[in-house]
Amino acid sequence: MSLLDSIELPNGEIDSSETAPAGPLVDLKRLLPDELRDFLTSHGKERYRANQLLRWIHERGVSDFSEMTNLSKEFRAELPARARIERLPEIARTTTDDGSTTKLLLGLGDGRRVEAVAMHDGKRRTVCVSSQAGCALGCEFCATGQLGLLRQLSAGEIVDQLYRAADLFRAEGYTDRPVTNVVFMGMGEPLHNYDEVLRAIRLIGLEMGLAISATKVTISTAGLVPMIRRVAVDMPKVGLAVSLNATTDEVRDRIMPVNRRWPLSELLDAAREMAAATERRRVTLEYTLIDGVNDSDDDARRLAKIASTLPCKINLIPFNPVPERPFRRPANGRIDRFYKILWDKHFTVTVRWSKGDDIAAACGQLQAAQPEVPRERVTLQGADGS
Ligand code: SF4
Repeated sequence: MSLLDSIELPNGEIDSSETAPAGPLVDLKRLLPDELRDFLTSHGKERYRANQLLRWIHERGVSDFSEMTNLSKEFRAELPARARIERLPEIARTTTDDGSTTKLLLGLGDGRRVEAVAMHDGKRRTVCVSSQAGCALGCEFCATGQLGLLRQLSAGEIVDQLYRAADLFRAEGYTDRPVTNVVFMGMGEPLHNYDEVLRAIRLIGLEMGLAISATKVTISTAGLVPMIRRVAVDMPKVGLAVSLNATTDEVRDRIMPVNRRWPLSELLDAAREMAAATERRRVTLEYTLIDGVNDSDDDARRLAKIASTLPCKINLIPFNPVPERPFRRPANGRIDRFYKILWDKHFTVTVRWSKGDDIAAACGQLQAAQPEVPRERVTLQGADGS
């Protein structure tokens, strides 16, 4: 039984308030500029100091108040009693043989761990970030899903993954725009941590930070339909990727329990609404090809039929092996044939041969070996608390 079976899913909105433990200190990295100004005035300080702090935090990457030399000594001494600045220590780093992909294992303040993946491809320097430690949705083929939801990440923790990856790219000489693209395809279901993900997208757009436009950000969802509709309203510039992975409810129910709540027809309706709302005008359908599960010619034809109902491009992702999961990658010939059926029907289709599979950084492989920390009980609630 997946965790999803034992938790209540909402009819409407999802309360994503179970964020990282706040602790007594305010994480200044998580605050938007106006909130930082309010924080300062509530402590009797001038609002203009917010810009000084923003530059130290987001432009210069400083997390120690004592280094903020244009703040008065008195103010620097006061701040640690009220605030902190999130910084995730790097625990381990693994790079693929070709040097194009690096997986960062990062520590959280409570001892848990998350992973971020930095990928370099031509002019694009893309970072795949985690939005949760673990994931509640329990997709059968996914390493993260086997952890269950350990906890939500705060926007400060999400943004800092990008800052750690940006450090990597800067070290390679990309000092101007170290990160060009962001994909929420790491650990977790980003739409189940909606408010913090939205906040993180605003923070990474700050000019004095990474200045990454929302048009360069893609959120991948397993299918939280009410939240897709909210994205269409709140973040229409963001790209949406739907992790489809099956062409019938029968198969999708089996490998993605979220489908039992929001079946394919509802998911595709919401994806069409997003495609109409977004400036990109099309969504990405991600389809992990699993041997004998969803890789038949009939599946390819059904996928073509689905794709013909909405503006989209299709990414085929050959399954990446996950320990203790009873699934395999199809033979290359099968993958080629599946691709050709779609190609012959003139869809925009790409096979994503994951670059990171030799370091377990490929789609569905992120698991970030967790130390023994008590698991939080998390309930997904409706906005009315039902
Ligand atoms: Fe969660 Fe995505 Fe893995 Fe499904 S595929 S369990 S939504 S991280």
